[in-house]
Amino acid sequence: MEHYKRLTSLALALVLAFVLTACGGGTGDAANASSAGETTAESTDAGTGEGTTETATDDEGAGASEGEASEEQPAGLVGKPWVTSMLQGNLPVEQPEAKDDLYAHYAYDYLVTHQNESTNPNVSAMADHAGELKDTVVVAIKDESKAGHDLEQLRIFYNQAADTDALEATGLSEVQPYIDRIDAVTSLEELNALVAADDFPFSPFITAVVKTNDTRATNIVGVYPNFLFSNALLVGGTNYAETDDPTAQQASNVQLAGMGLYVSADLEASGMDSDSALEASKQLMEFEKSHGKYLEGTTTYVKADFGAMAEDARANALTLDELCDLSPNYPIKETLAKLGKDGAKQYTVSRKWLKAFNDVWTAEHLEDLKLMAKAKVLDETRPYRAQSKKGGDIELPQVSADAFAYTACNSLNTFAQVLAKTYVDEGIPAQAKERLTELSQQIIDTYKDLVDDTAWMGEKSKQRVEEKLEHVAINVLEPEGGYFDYSGLELVPSDKGGTLLSNYLICKQYRYDCEAKLVGQPAIKSSTWFMIEPTTMNAFYESENNSINIVPGYVTSLLYADDMSEEDLLGGIGFTVAHEISHGFDYQGAQSDAYGRPEPVYDEADVDAFVAKTSALAQYYSGIELHPEVVLDGQALVAEAAADLSGMQAMLEIARASDDFDYQRFFDNMCKTWAQVIPRAVFSVFAADTHPLANLRVNVNSQMFDPLYDTFGVVEGDGMYLAPDKRIVMWGPNA
Ligand SMILES: [Zn+2]
Repeated sequence: MEHYKRLTSLALALVLAFVLTACGGGTGDAANASSAGETTAESTDAGTGEGTTETATDDEGAGASEGEASEEQPAGLVGKPWVTSMLQGNLPVEQPEAKDDLYAHYAYDYLVTHQNESTNPNVSAMADHAGELKDTVVVAIKDESKAGHDLEQLRIFYNQAADTDALEATGLSEVQPYIDRIDAVTSLEELNALVAADDFPFSPFITAVVKTNDTRATNIVGVYPNFLFSNALLVGGTNYAETDDPTAQQASNVQLAGMGLYVSADLEASGMDSDSALEASKQLMEFEKSHGKYLEGTTTYVKADFGAMAEDARANALTLDELCDLSPNYPIKETLAKLGKDGAKQYTVSRKWLKAFNDVWTAEHLEDLKLMAKAKVLDETRPYRAQSKKGGDIELPQVSADAFAYTACNSLNTFAQVLAKTYVDEGIPAQAKERLTELSQQIIDTYKDLVDDTAWMGEKSKQRVEEKLEHVAINVLEPEGGYFDYSGLELVPSDKGGTLLSNYLICKQYRYDCEAKLVGQPAIKSSTWFMIEPTTMNAFYESENNSINIVPGYVTSLLYADDMSEEDLLGGIGFTVAHEISHGFDYQGAQSDAYGRPEPVYDEADVDAFVAKTSALAQYYSGIELHPEVVLDGQALVAEAAADLSGMQAMLEIARASDDFDYQRFFDNMCKTWAQVIPRAVFSVFAADTHPLANLRVNVNSQMFDPLYDTFGVVEGDGMYLAPDKRIVMWGPNA
């Protein structure tokens, strides 16, 4: 999930950069505007459908100072112990030798070729392949000779979304009646009745998702009450944590300004005058900010004491009655009934979040709540009506009809599952599922052996970690039990009076019905797939159901081909999958057991030993200089750095057991997979990410193990050399 977040964050950061330029009065050239527009489409397609605006962790302040620093130092390469070779304009003229800078050596050709694509925020081998799913699916949609129920339904929807003239002609007229009903509300009781009404097809304040918290039990329901426009499920509260750091505050403000722009454009389109709409959007963004702080941020549990995450999870598991008791003001039972999710044995909700929500849900705030409800309905329907042109005086970026149509299809509420399945059928090589499942199993078995041989870990912890590894569910290219059966979906074609919005509502109800059937049924060990579009470029470990997940969007030709060598497979996708699986027994992952229950698997002494290992790694990263006087914060990225180190070790263990393994080819492909050029303007976004920069992912981890030294003859004095007593290993007899 982390990788995915990073991509969407970056996409939005660039949209915001564009918006800010516009706010500052700059015009920007046409090329920039259209590229920002494309990016909007990519980022807005990522929501659960309840809210479609993504959020970002942009860091404008640092970005600005980065730019200044680079102007002062146009010459000379920066970064050590290796040059920060992905930073645009920071590549050595001569290709470095592998023994001095492994990453820059093998990624060199890519880095040279892509040095000057300065308008593209994410020039990378992975991004180059990111469109393969979309391209494959769009070809199938447009090929009218291709038949099949699901594809035909998808085609109806896509064509309606691509029909710009029809959307323009319809305008807001289909949404307006719902807005009018909100406007007509005069009391909190009436608002409660409206949000629970079956003929009001929106749930502006509650997202409810099928999930599991014990893979041997039944599916439960996660409840997310919110006033947010950002996607709470994916983003968490990272952007809203109370902080004294002015840079973080500014980043949060920039992001809210960007989201507010669309809100104000929508309100204006629905009849408010321009000034009031702007004022209202500011007010709503304040709401967002004040409520967002109750969400758990991605780093919350990294900083908390071991076990806090499990403790919170236990405290937040409730029955429906308990849930209702905690929600005295908001009609939660009625809303869940409307969503078909009132039959679960158990619910999870953040108690503090629900309390904060109820504290605001009072008659005193009625006008704010109505305004919020309108804005959220407008936000949800935005991908299914004509594009907003203007927010106040600011022209909003427009996307092409095809980009708009694809975004409309690529939502969990619409056709994301069908898109993923179509790609699996049409674009993914035949042996991928089997081979990637085998690879995942091989990695799991390797970790079991490594953990078993690890001297610092006690026997009890070992047993529990090994039990956990034994039970990891491997979900490759499809969720457990398969995708939803869409054979019952019947959209209304345009010539029979169907519209994009009316069909969106049919699709959404269809999804709700599919999910409702799962509530209370045996647990699905891939329930996270109900929260994330399987079209995204993503592979992730999920501790709530102890599963490794490789979704179709991730399997591009860069990472998989049926005839790919073992070396290429391990150096590419293998490293990532091994990274992800190691999250199952790291500081966070070890807080849930083999069945996904919130029961820690480490004994206290082993937690201390684990932290000692990762602290040493953090310290090593903290000594790395990206730029003069810009050193890394090792603690901030140590969770991901430790997963990288584990992933590298697992790959090299598998390599060791393989006859005639070609290590050069392995390292070569790893570098090429992570090849990336980062424009200076967004360098700070990457530098502040919780994942190490690509060159460090390769260089730091390879220099911890013998194969690097044996393959390239690395000796003291070479750039890649690290003295044996400085090398850090997490697992196995040498750890
Ligand atoms: Zn990770």
